[in-house]
Amino acid sequence: MKTLEDLFEHQIKDLYSAETQLVKVLPKMIDKASDSKLKETFEGHLAETKMQKSRLETICREMNITPAGETCKAMKGLIKETKHFISEAATDDVMDAGLIAEAQRVEHYEISGYGTAVRFAKELGHRNIAKTLQETLDEEYDTDNKLDKLAEGRLNKKAIDQN
Ligand code: FE
Ligand code: FE
Ligand code: FE
Repeated sequence: MKTLEDLFEHQIKDLYSAETQLVKVLPKMIDKASDSKLKETFEGHLAETKMQKSRLETICREMNITPAGETCKAMKGLIKETKHFISEAATDDVMDAGLIAEAQRVEHYEISGYGTAVRFAKELGHRNIAKTLQETLDEEYDTDNKLDKLAEGRLNKKAIDQN
């Protein structure tokens, strides 16, 4: 890797690997979620994740590179952790809380990845690519906010139950 362009390509492939892994694990998370709003949030984000994956394919076509060939090891680790958690017995409520925790770790990782990619794209003068990556970044932020609200809702419900 000699240039920022090389590094940018590497980052795009890493993100592609991350999204590909997420398309596979999100159905398992949907399956394990009990709260209907949490299920809905995961379902919505699975659809978005598939779209994000195809956006990266379009970007790679424009850049004349293939999207495959990298493994995002960090996402691999986060998913390993999530699967391990899912395999443990938990009450529905605790499972939901844990799923939110794991999902937010994933979103934060994606937010930092796409944040960097948008900056690199701008720096390299790829204005349209930067715009496309920004769309995905906004969706990752939006999902993180939804998960925040669901976690907050759990806290409020607990306060009401204790009264
Ligand atoms: Fe994503
Ligand atoms: Fe990565
Ligand atoms: Fe995401």
